[in-house]
Amino acid sequence: MRIFNFITMVACMVLLTQCTSAQKEGNMDTKKNNPYYSRTDTEHLNVPNSEWQKILPAGVYSIAREQGTEYAFSGKYYKTDTKGTYYCAVCGNPLFKSDAKFASSCGWPSFFEALRPNSVNYLDDNSHGMRRTEVQCGRCDSHLGHIFDDGPPPTYKRFCMNSAVLDFEPDEK
Ligand code: FE
Repeated sequence: MRIFNFITMVACMVLLTQCTSAQKEGNMDTKKNNPYYSRTDTEHLNVPNSEWQKILPAGVYSIAREQGTEYAFSGKYYKTDTKGTYYCAVCGNPLFKSDAKFASSCGWPSFFEALRPNSVNYLDDNSHGMRRTEVQCGRCDSHLGHIFDDGPPPTYKRFCMNSAVLDFEPDEK
């Protein structure tokens, strides 16, 4: 009986921890005290990580500036299909339209094309024993995710992005 109680207690603690982290993610306000955030300014930013670290929530900083990856099926946008625009959560640069989003089973929000050709940068990434192409924000150079060649037509590309570095604005009705 005691073991059963102990298992129940541990399960509750795990659930509580998960809820807390999900709540934290929902409260990740990347615009607060962020003088670089703009959805209209296209000027390239050269902001050092020491500055971003002061501005961004830790969960966003680790992905955007340290090439981190959120857990699959954990982000807030991996299965959403609301019409609107996805901006860079770090700097506000417009990145993707919801029209280019598709249902992927990979567990991260996936798009077949960027909003503009210069919305993003592409870099060779040979880390973790893999040959991949990293996708960065074209304005602030933050890490967004990777691009793969297994997407749907018309581009057959799959921009595999991290929800934490995306800032979604629904279309006005
Ligand atoms: Fe950006």
